[in-house]
Amino acid sequence: MSSIFTKIIHGEIPSYKVAETDSCYAFLDINPLAEGHVLAIPRKEVDYLFDVDDSIYSDLMLFSKNVALAIRKVIPCERIGVAVIGLEVPHAHVHLIPINAIHDIDFSRPKLSFSELELQATADKILEAFESA
Ligand code: AMP
Repeated sequence: MSSIFTKIIHGEIPSYKVAETDSCYAFLDINPLAEGHVLAIPRKEVDYLFDVDDSIYSDLMLFSKNVALAIRKVIPCERIGVAVIGLEVPHAHVHLIPINAIHDIDFSRPKLSFSELELQATADKILEAFESA
């Protein structure tokens, strides 16, 4: 059975897209730790990040960097924190989280809630920054 993220890539489940390339896709985390919390994923479904083949792994890391630069341009923050957890969704993904302090990337904290309009506005501005780079 396809992962929820493969369904997102195929448009079977909606997402707030912020960037895409031939091999990767990025969208807002639906339960964010911060405004602009993004997940970057390879289009090819592989559960564990370190089982991803070298070529796609390299693509994903460079893609994550470019998405992080786009987030940083439009979301005020000290820097973009990076985390790989993968205990919930078995499709490799990189969390990109705007942070100002260590606790901003603490996954045990309560998640934030934004309206659909706010999420769409955030996604749109990251997408614009990504595409104009
Ligand atoms: P983990 O696998 O532990 O890295 O966590 C998976 C992450 O995916 C969590 O932060 C969820 O909020 C996020 N997530 C799960 N389903 C969706 C979805 N449909 N759209 C966006 N983010 C999701």
